[in-house]
Amino acid sequence: MSAISADFGINDALIQLDVKDLNEGSSTGSNNFSHGDIIESYSPVDGQLIGKVKMTTKEDYEKVMESATRAFKIWRTMPAPQRGEIVRQFGEKLREKKEALGKLVSYEMGKSYQEGLGEVQEMIDICDFAVGLSRQLHGLTMHSERPGHRMYEQYHPLGVVGIISAFNFPVAVWAWNTALAWICGDVCVWKPSEKTPICGVACQNIAAEVFKDNNLPEGICNLINGDYKVGEFMTKDARIPLISATGSTRMGKIVAQEVAARLGKSLLELGGNNAIIVTPDADIKMTVIGAVFGAVGTAGQRCTSTRRLIIHDSIYDQVKNAVVDAYKQLRIGNPLDENNHVGPLIDTDAVKMYENALTKVVDEGGNIVVEGGVLSGEGYESGCYVKPAIAEAKPNYEIVQHETFAPVLYLLKYSGGVENAIDIQNEVAQGLSSAIMTNNLREAERFLSVAGSDCGIANVNIGTSGAEIGGAFGGEKETGGGRESGSDAWKIYMRRQTNTINYTTELPLAQGIKFDL
Ligand code: NAD
Repeated sequence: MSAISADFGINDALIQLDVKDLNEGSSTGSNNFSHGDIIESYSPVDGQLIGKVKMTTKEDYEKVMESATRAFKIWRTMPAPQRGEIVRQFGEKLREKKEALGKLVSYEMGKSYQEGLGEVQEMIDICDFAVGLSRQLHGLTMHSERPGHRMYEQYHPLGVVGIISAFNFPVAVWAWNTALAWICGDVCVWKPSEKTPICGVACQNIAAEVFKDNNLPEGICNLINGDYKVGEFMTKDARIPLISATGSTRMGKIVAQEVAARLGKSLLELGGNNAIIVTPDADIKMTVIGAVFGAVGTAGQRCTSTRRLIIHDSIYDQVKNAVVDAYKQLRIGNPLDENNHVGPLIDTDAVKMYENALTKVVDEGGNIVVEGGVLSGEGYESGCYVKPAIAEAKPNYEIVQHETFAPVLYLLKYSGGVENAIDIQNEVAQGLSSAIMTNNLREAERFLSVAGSDCGIANVNIGTSGAEIGGAFGGEKETGGGRESGSDAWKIYMRRQTNTINYTTELPLAQGIKFDL
């Protein structure tokens, strides 16, 4: 049970998470190695300073790596179900702190309190998933071509896993990675986004408490702070066999090359440009709910946010009018107030990108049907609140091909069969999430077929945003090809080994080769 009731304020949440007094930049969570420049975290909700953390220097980083490498030697020998027990306890701690952490996520990132709670729930869900998985890390056995031989494959932990995460899911993405990596026997070093460092410290505190309670070394769970330069410590470090990086495609292209140059593995979760296809057989009411939530939820700052609505010309006006009407009901304001639908963007740079996108779509010939704009005055002092906007556009506009991380929705028209809509959908460089709204079985199956959506996620009669942890999550093309979370995503956190055992007194060679001595 939570120590305090759910209607407590942000200050109480900071106290409960032990991040209230980060005003000297002195703390980076329990294993406090950082001594670099100070990062100040300001809330996009009200522009107030939340706290300060120190950046991790190269010397600090070396200490973290020493601690992690030492801890790995202990952690990897613990039976996987026992590691699962630790992850179970971590999930329990998250249940206790759910309201407080959900509130901090909302306050530091700007998403609604409900979405902040949802993010923590995802952390809890992946812990539950990982606990079960800790008893199922299975390999295969296969028949040997040599008599009296047994052959099988097994999975071993990799070592230190480096996690680089984006601002928009400041806690869940870390948990998706760590919960699986931990049960696999890996230890983790996490660099959260420099835009949400306090969430990082809060998570580190929660996890560190569990390891301490179990007399386990601190180095199983490590936090480093800073911008891309601190991320580069990890991407260039051959001691880290796997880098899991979530963020923009621009970042992913750099990280992929750095890690590949040392023949490391990378798991990339990058930008999306997600579309919903609306066919003549769509349920319009469901379409409007899915499209509006997908486009304006988290102020358009989800990797799975709906950016493009590809609507059949026969119902184009009807769908457009219904979506435009729904936008009139949106309430924009403090995301901790549950009456509001849309909170702020992360910072004023993001506001500039939003404004540029609206200028660009008009320059390219687009037609604004719901005006955007930056809000000012009481309640909007942070300068990060914008109005969700809608523009009619053409699929080939440069701006439509691009992911703008803000609530801008493009309406695109298609004619003829669903294959034409699928072509438009697949014409972008990104391949994360996609959806079709239709009650027509043929259209739905076509969309899911080999000639259908080229995305990692393809939904029928559900929008593009949001995913359950049970399925593998990720996307193709410029989204990076990584898969995290459910299904068999755990395999990337382990190394595969093929074993052959000879239980005879002969030594036959494979492929019938003779080597007589
Ligand atoms: P970003 O690329 O600016 O930063 C992401 C992280 O990468 C940060 O921690 C940053 O410090 C680090 N980083 C940046 N350059 C680096 C480098 N050269 N070396 C090492 N680390 C580096 O992204 P953002 O603005 O924080 O997040 C928004 C983006 O993330 C959007 O494009 C969104 O679609 C994407 N995203 C994708 C997923 C997914 O699962 N596919 C999930 C969340 C966010």
